[in-house]
Amino acid sequence: MTGTDVIVVGAGPAGLATAHLLAAAGHGVVVLEAADAVGGRMRTLRADGHLIDTGAEMIPSADAYPATWRLIRATGLDADPGAVPLVRDALSVWWRGRARRHAGRPLGLLTGMGLSPRARLDLVRLQLRLARAGLDPEHPERADPGGETVADLLRDHHPQLRERLLGPLAAGFFGWTPRAAAAPFAAHLCAAGSTATWRTYRDGMDTLARALAEGLDVRTGHPVTGVSAGPDGVRVDSPRGTLTARSAVLAVPAPVAERLHPGAPPVERAYLRACGFAPMLRLSALLDAPVAPRGAPRGFAVLVSDDPLLGVVTLDHAKHPGRVPPGRGMISLITRPEGTGALLDAPDEEVGRVLLARAERVLPGVTARVRRTVAHRFRHGLPLPGPEALAARPAFTGRPPAAVEYAGDWTSLRPCSEGAVASAFTAAERTAAFLAQTREPTLIEA
Ligand SMILES: Cc1cc2nc3c(=O)[nH]c(=O)nc-3n(C[C@H](O)[C@H](O)[C@H](O)COP(=O)(O)OP(=O)(O)OC[C@H]3O[C@@H](n4cnc5c(N)ncnc54)[C@H](O)[C@@H]3O)c2cc1C
Repeated sequence: MTGTDVIVVGAGPAGLATAHLLAAAGHGVVVLEAADAVGGRMRTLRADGHLIDTGAEMIPSADAYPATWRLIRATGLDADPGAVPLVRDALSVWWRGRARRHAGRPLGLLTGMGLSPRARLDLVRLQLRLARAGLDPEHPERADPGGETVADLLRDHHPQLRERLLGPLAAGFFGWTPRAAAAPFAAHLCAAGSTATWRTYRDGMDTLARALAEGLDVRTGHPVTGVSAGPDGVRVDSPRGTLTARSAVLAVPAPVAERLHPGAPPVERAYLRACGFAPMLRLSALLDAPVAPRGAPRGFAVLVSDDPLLGVVTLDHAKHPGRVPPGRGMISLITRPEGTGALLDAPDEEVGRVLLARAERVLPGVTARVRRTVAHRFRHGLPLPGPEALAARPAFTGRPPAAVEYAGDWTSLRPCSEGAVASAFTAAERTAAFLAQTREPTLIEA
């Protein structure tokens, strides 16, 4: 069937993957995106020969991100063996004046990662406990890893795990406080596997989004202001005009979907309301030369476990040399929740000054090397699931297919792009089921 059946709102990974799957099944699809480019929280900016990843940094192997890799293969990106290269020396932990390498991989249990032998033994104990809990990252509500919140989960374990490794990891990579629900955290960690499998897209983290968008009708600069379902289909309003179609998929963060679709049925509204998001703030600093932390000369990401504001430092030039022109460097500084709270609304200059001052400890002399900074602000950075979102999820997933569907990392409470891409398979299937029950397509532009 061709025509215009579905309007997808949002051209992040979830929206583009949903549109790709529906178009491949023969449905007519239009994607509306508020920003001037695709990618969402996985967007890459291009400036002065730099590829500046604004949000997402990396993806792991196909075992950990099966839906993502399915689309990497479907778009032919895997035909180029260098398109999604491994990131060397992916994660270290900053502790007592130097970066401790091999974090998040078995080798780290031997080299230490800044943890005492007792804490490492306890880490193994925790990993075994979680492995036995039967956690499924697509259904975090189905298993109990032990305790409602991240704080509960870690309470019975060695304090160094909470203070130096897992607490900082939740805060720095996900923007989470210890009050986040334990199950999505534990399920994601188990599914993500070893940091030795981390990869990045050579041509920027927006590579898959751009590849998916190529074959689609994507309209950028098209902010949607309201969505309503009626007997004649779905109406999608925007200052650019009103469109109607047989169905719509809202592939935007839950709080945005809640605002756009006030007429959603109670079960949907309850889940949308329960799905909190953590704001995130990241500063990219373009440098006149590459820099490296003490202890990890070629390392990529450094988890800063002992700073109240700065959570993670990444060295983009070490992630892939093509991120910068020859001889140059680039780093990213990601705030912890406290730092995000303090700086999210501050002017760029202040964000740069505060975060670079804190990064000096990890990268002495870095401020003097900065040529330019760019702040990336995400009011809806990553899903921050509380126990109430887990409780509301079974009713949400059990609802019948409807004219307005949803896609996004938050639908499975999974704080990563695989959650977004996997949600697209569900949204596409449900939308196709709804379309199969209803009459022929319409799309009217007003
Ligand atoms: C700082 C940071 C680091 C991250 N690191 C990683 C990582 O290393 N690996 C990983 O796998 N994941 C990472 N993630 C998570 C990943 O980026 C997200 O899970 C993923 O982008 C979610 O995709 P999505 O399509 O659900 O939403 P989004 O990417 O947010 O896409 C939603 C789209 O909808 C558009 N939109 C919003 N409102 C409207 C409207 N009213 N009208 C029209 N369009 C609208 C937005 O502009 C956006 O393009 C990170 C996220 C952040 C913030």
